Amino acid sequence: MKSFSKLNWLNPKINLSDNLPCGRGQVASEAIKTEEVLVIFGGHVMTMEEFFTLPPKIQEFPYQISEDPDLVLGPANLDELHNGEFFNHSCDPNTGFKSEICLVAMRDIYVGEELTFDYAMCTTGNFGNMDCHCGSVNCRGYIKGDDWKIAELQQNIAGIFSLILKRKLPGCWRYEIVS
Ligand SMILES: [Zn+2]
Repeated sequence: MKSFSKLNWLNPKINLSDNLPCGRGQVASEAIKTEEVLVIFGGHVMTMEEFFTLPPKIQEFPYQISEDPDLVLGPANLDELHNGEFFNHSCDPNTGFKSEICLVAMRDIYVGEELTFDYAMCTTGNFGNMDCHCGSVNCRGYIKGDDWKIAELQQNIAGIFSLILKRKLPGCWRYEIVS
């Protein structure tokens, strides 16, 4: 029986680089078109309680998939870390979420460009807080798990928020029962 060892699917046009000004990150090795799928995140479904028992290094890689109950998706140990995990944050990102686990290009991306997303796009939780030195003109300086509440972000990038956040915004997509 074939075994499947990767938790994520990463677009083959993307390479992990260790030579970026910020260190490690994802870089386009071929041109990528707007809305092209870049990565499908996978992993173990964990409660937040379980997630916070993981080694600190692993706690950098969760993707929130539900709020009530609070569930995240991600690797459970260092051996399960996959190249697809290492997307850096930017306050001026070029990728966004199509669902809770699918990252797409927000615009055409050129060979050699780093691929980034705004970490505020994918969590309602108060975790993942960090200083930001992304260098963009609109850099927030400090990134928090509840930055999705910032009105300017809701105006500018709500379209590429993770679905878990879109459902919280007035006028955005919600579940509908079709009869
Ligand atoms: Zn920034």
